[in-house]
Amino acid sequence: MTLPPKKITCTCGHVMELTQSSDWCTKCVKKVYYHTKDRHKNKLNGIYIIFIIVMVFGFLTYIFTEMIAGPLMILESLSK
Ligand SMILES: [Zn+2]
Repeated sequence: MTLPPKKITCTCGHVMELTQSSDWCTKCVKKVYYHTKDRHKNKLNGIYIIFIIVMVFGFLTYIFTEMIAGPLMILESLSK
C-alpha cells in the first residue's frame, strides 16, 4: 500500500521520506515507522511474543515432568 510521502526523522537523526507504513533507515538500518503509534504497537507485539514463548516453555517443562520424569520415577521405584 503506497502512502503520501511523509518526512520521518529516525532515532539516529537521519530524515527519510516514507511512502509505505514502515521502512529500514538507510543510515543506521533501524526500522522507521510512518505512523509513530505503529512503533508502540510493535513494542506491544514483542511483549506478547515473549509471553507466548514463556507459556510454551512452561508447558514443555510441564509435559516433560509429566511424561518423562514421572514414568521414570515410577520405573525406578518398581525396579527396587
Ligand atoms: Zn537511522
